[in-house]
Amino acid sequence: MYSFDYARPASVSEALEILRSDVEPRLLAGGQTLLPAMKHRLTAHSTLIDLQGIDTLRGIEVTEAGLRIGAMVRHAEIASSETVQRMLPALAVLADGIADPLVRNMGTLGGSVANNDPAADYPAAVLGCGAVVNTDRRDIAADDFFEGMFTTALEEDEILTAITFPLPETAGYFKLPHPASGYVLAGAFVCRFAEGLRVAINGAAPCVYRDTLAEMALAAHFHPDSANDLVFDDEDFTDDLHASRAYRARVLPAVIRRAVARALNPERTSP
Ligand SMILES: Cc1cc2nc3c(=O)[nH]c(=O)nc-3n(C[C@H](O)[C@H](O)[C@H](O)COP(=O)(O)OP(=O)(O)OC[C@H]3O[C@@H](n4cnc5c(N)ncnc54)[C@H](O)[C@@H]3O)c2cc1C
Repeated sequence: MYSFDYARPASVSEALEILRSDVEPRLLAGGQTLLPAMKHRLTAHSTLIDLQGIDTLRGIEVTEAGLRIGAMVRHAEIASSETVQRMLPALAVLADGIADPLVRNMGTLGGSVANNDPAADYPAAVLGCGAVVNTDRRDIAADDFFEGMFTTALEEDEILTAITFPLPETAGYFKLPHPASGYVLAGAFVCRFAEGLRVAINGAAPCVYRDTLAEMALAAHFHPDSANDLVFDDEDFTDDLHASRAYRARVLPAVIRRAVARALNPERTSP
C-alpha cells in the first residue's frame, strides 16, 4: 500500500472542501472495495476522506417519496432493519445475501452503488425499483445513474448522500452466486408497481441494465412461468473465467423465474 493522509470530516460540506482542494483524494466508506485495491497497489491516493464521522449520511426513514436510506448505512443494518423488512423486504433479503458478516458489517449502500461493480447486488435493487440517487447537489434517477462498468453519473467531487426507493406493490430478488466468492453471476430484481413493472439484471453484462423483454413478458402475466420462454441475446454479456456469456444467457430465465416467485411470496428466501 502506498502512503496516504487520512481525514475524518464531520459534515458533507467539510468533506467536499477536502475533496476539492486535495491532489488525488478519495472518499472512504466501508473500505471493502477501496482498501483491498490500495493494498494491492492497484490504486493510490493522497488523502482518504473517511465518511464514518458524518451523521447525516446515516439513517433509514420512510418519506413521502419512499424509503430513504443514508449512504453510510451498512449492509447488515439494511438486512436487520425492521423498517426495510416491512416496507421493502426484497432489499433486506438482498443485503443479507451479500458476502459474509465481516463485509456486511463494514460495507455500505453508498459505497457499493458509487462503485457500480457489475457483480454487485444493490445496483439491481436501485435500478429495479427506479430509485433516486441523492447527492450533495442533485437527485439522479436510477435510469440515468449507472453508465457502465464501474462508472456512474457521479462527478469526481460529488458525494452520494442517500438513496430513495419508491415502494412497489411487490418486489423480489434472486441471484445465482459464484460458488467461491458469492458475487453474482446473473441476478434479477423484479419490481411491480401499480403503474408498471421493472426488471433489472445484474452480473450478466458489464453494467446493470433494465430488460425490456422480461418486462413485457411479466407485464402480460406476472407469474414465474412467464420467464420460461425468454431467450436472451448474449452478444453484450460478460464472458470471463467465472462463466461464459452463453451460460449467463442460459440461466437468466430461471433466475428471473425465481425472482418473480419471491416477489409473489416475499417470505420466501430460498429457491
Ligand atoms: C470478500 C468480499 C466479498 C464481497 N461480496 C460481495 C457480494 O457478494 N455482493 C456485493 O454486492 N458486494 C460484495 N462485496 C463488496 C462490498 O459489498 C463493498 O461493501 C462495496 O463494494 C463497497 O462498499 P464500501 O462501503 O466498502 O465502499 P468503499 O470500498 O469504501 O468505497 C468504494 C468506492 O466508492 C466510493 N464511495 C464510497 N462512498 C461514497 C459516497 N458516499 N459517495 C461517492 N463515492 C463514494 C469510494 O471513493 C470508492 O471509490 C464484497 C467485498 C469483499 C471484500
